[in-house]
Amino acid sequence: MTMNLVVLGPPGVGKGTYAKYLAKKYNIPTISVGDLFRNAIKNQTPLGKKIKGIVSSGELVPDELVNELVKNRLDEDDCKNGFILDGYPRTVPQAEAMPSFKNLDLALNFVAPNDVIMERISGRRTCNKCGATYHIKNIKPKVERVCDGCSGDLIQRADEKPDVIKNRLEVYYEKTKPVTDYLQKKILVADINANYNIDEVEKILSQCYAAIDKLN
Ligand code: AMP
Repeated sequence: MTMNLVVLGPPGVGKGTYAKYLAKKYNIPTISVGDLFRNAIKNQTPLGKKIKGIVSSGELVPDELVNELVKNRLDEDDCKNGFILDGYPRTVPQAEAMPSFKNLDLALNFVAPNDVIMERISGRRTCNKCGATYHIKNIKPKVERVCDGCSGDLIQRADEKPDVIKNRLEVYYEKTKPVTDYLQKKILVADINANYNIDEVEKILSQCYAAIDKLN
């Protein structure tokens, strides 16, 4: 059985982290559009050069560019038994374009209060070498500002500084929240309460498993 999933919810709610757990359990890839963009920027590809300014300000990349990137990625071989999309669709036109290349089975909609989200993103630190993520209070590295895995420097992403986070949340409520309402009319959307601490991951994952079980 194929399983085409999307994770929805505001930036910082933890959907990328849970997507990775689910991908491992169900043996399907996670496609994070934000990561695809960050890699393009890091590698200074033509796409990367085009979108660098947009991504660092927290605005959205134009739909045509995103649609093409996602379509090509989902056409790759590893997605043929399913995938977990993180960060797409992020606008109603993207959601409308989606069925023309892949049908979705389920959306997991992660929900947490705004103040919790602000705290999570502003404390997040990312390894500039391997991309591993930490949190200044909740997931501390063994040595301050140094990645446990590869000894890279832990930095705050440009789009995780407080004024940019505020902008990303505004963009989310204006452009992306309507995608949840749109998808609710088309496919199964399960609300997942993500307001738990990092050591309570199972409480969040068990809600995801229950929603996925209903597909079988
Ligand atoms: P994320 O890590 O998912 O928060 O994505 C980081 C940034 O990449 C966003 O703030 C946008 O600038 C861009 N981005 C990611 N996904 C999309 C999308 N589906 N549509 C437009 N822009 C996107």
